[in-house]
Amino acid sequence: MRDLYDVGMNAEGTAIIFHRSALGQSLKDQVDRAIGKTESCNRHTRETQLGPVSEWRTTLRLTSHNVFRRTLGRSRSGVEFALNRGKRTAMQYRKFGKLGWQVSALGFGCMRFPTADGERLSPNILEDEAIRMVRHAIDNGVNYLDTAYPYHGGQSEIVVGKALRDGYREKVRLATKLPTWQVTCAEDFDRLLDEQLKKLDTTHIDFYLLHALGKSRWHEVVLKHDLFGRAEAALADGRIRHLGFSFHDDYEAFEEIVKGTDLWDFCQIQYNYMDTETQAGTRGLKLAAEKGLAVAVMEPLMGGRLADPPKDVRDAMEAFDVRRSPAEWALGWLWDQPEVSVVLSGMSAMSQVEENLAIAGRSRVGAFTGAEQALIARAREMYQARTVIPCTRCNYCMPCPNGLNIPGNFEHFNFAHLFDDVKTAKFRYQVFLKPEERSSACIDCGICEDICPQQIHIGEWMPKVTALLG
Ligand code: SF4
Ligand code: SF4
Repeated sequence: MRDLYDVGMNAEGTAIIFHRSALGQSLKDQVDRAIGKTESCNRHTRETQLGPVSEWRTTLRLTSHNVFRRTLGRSRSGVEFALNRGKRTAMQYRKFGKLGWQVSALGFGCMRFPTADGERLSPNILEDEAIRMVRHAIDNGVNYLDTAYPYHGGQSEIVVGKALRDGYREKVRLATKLPTWQVTCAEDFDRLLDEQLKKLDTTHIDFYLLHALGKSRWHEVVLKHDLFGRAEAALADGRIRHLGFSFHDDYEAFEEIVKGTDLWDFCQIQYNYMDTETQAGTRGLKLAAEKGLAVAVMEPLMGGRLADPPKDVRDAMEAFDVRRSPAEWALGWLWDQPEVSVVLSGMSAMSQVEENLAIAGRSRVGAFTGAEQALIARAREMYQARTVIPCTRCNYCMPCPNGLNIPGNFEHFNFAHLFDDVKTAKFRYQVFLKPEERSSACIDCGICEDICPQQIHIGEWMPKVTALLG
C-alpha cells in the first residue's frame, strides 16, 4: 500500500484511494496512518482488492459507509481533507446544441461491455454485469446512452433494451445508429429502424444517427436513396426524435455533410487531443457548433491509448503541478471546450464506470489554464515525434491519378508506429480505405512526388505501407 493519497466513497461502499505523491509530507503521513487502520480493519471488508485496478488506483470495498467513517473518517484533519477531496462531485451537465436539453458530460458508449470470452467486441456480453454498470451510471447522473446496430455482433442493442427496463428508459435519452452500409434501397431505412426498435424494446429512439458517414456513403447511400425522405417520415410519426450522423473521413467531407441538410440536430465525431487535425478535427467541431449541432465525441482516449501513454508523455504529465491521470488529462481537455456536448466512453468494468463518473464530476468548460493547454500541446508533440512519414495531410498530392488516398494510407501507417499498434492500424486501413484507395494500388508513377512540399518519396513508401498493413 504505497503511493496513495486520496480517499473517496461511492454509493456502493467502494473506497477509492488515489495516487498520493501530489500531497505534502504531513498529509502523506496522516494518510499512511489512516490506510494502516484500513488494513487492520479487513474483517469488515466483503471484498478487498489490494492489487492495482489501474496503475494509479487501488480500491477497497467496505461493508458500509459507517465502517468507512469509523475506519478513516475520525482521523486527523488532513485525512478529513482527503476524504472530502475524494468524494465524488455530482455529474456535470452541458448544453446539447440548439435543443435546450442538458446532457451529462459523460455518455455511456455500449460497444465495449464486459464479455464472457474476454474479447472486446464479442457478442457474448456478460449481461448481468453490463446491466448493473449501465444502471449504476444512470443512477449517478448519466443521461445519454449510445449504441449501434453492429455493436457486439448485434447484441448490444438487445442488452441495452434490457438494461432500460424497470423505469430506466424514462431516465435517459437513447442513441442508436442506422447501419448505412446495409442500405441498398430506401425501404431498408424503415426495415432496419423497426428491427432496432424491437431489439431495444422501446417505442422511440431519441437520437438516431446515420452510422459512419464519409464522402462516399454520403453520396452513394444517403443522397442516392433519399434517406432524408425516410428520416422525415420517421421524425413525423415519432419513431425517432432527432436525426444526426456519426462520421469518419476528413474535414472537407464533414463540411459537405453538415451543410447538406437542415435536418441534423447533432453529430458524433472521433475527437481527442491527437485528432485535432485529422477526421473532422477542431475545425469540424467548431463548424458543427456554429450550425447549432450538438457534438457527441467518440474515441476520446483513442481506444484507450491516451490512457496509457509512452514514458515521455507520462513523465511530463506526472511532473506537472496539477495531478491528473493520463485519462483525466485527455478527457478534461475535451470537456474544457464548450463545443463538446457529451463525451462517450465505452466502459468494460465497474471500476471504469466509477473512474469516469468521478472525472466527469470534476469537468468544467474553460477549466484548463494556458499552462495546462501547453502541456497537452507538448504531449501531442511527443507523440508526433514518433511519426515515421512526415505527411501533414495538406492534400496537395491529391487526387492521385490512380485513385489512391495518399494521406489516408500514411495516416494509418503512422498510427501503427505512434501507438505501437499494428493490429488497430490494419483494421483502420481495411475499414476506412476502399481497395482502390489502398497503397497496394500504387504503380509508382511518381506524379505525386513533385508536388509534395514535404518531399516524401511517396512511391517508395507505398509498398512499405502495404507490407505492414495490407
Ligand atoms: S506514385 Fe502512387 S500514389 Fe503517387 S500518383 Fe502515382 S500511383 Fe498515385
Ligand atoms: S502532398 Fe505530401 S504532405 Fe501533402 S498530403 Fe500528400 S504526401 Fe502528405
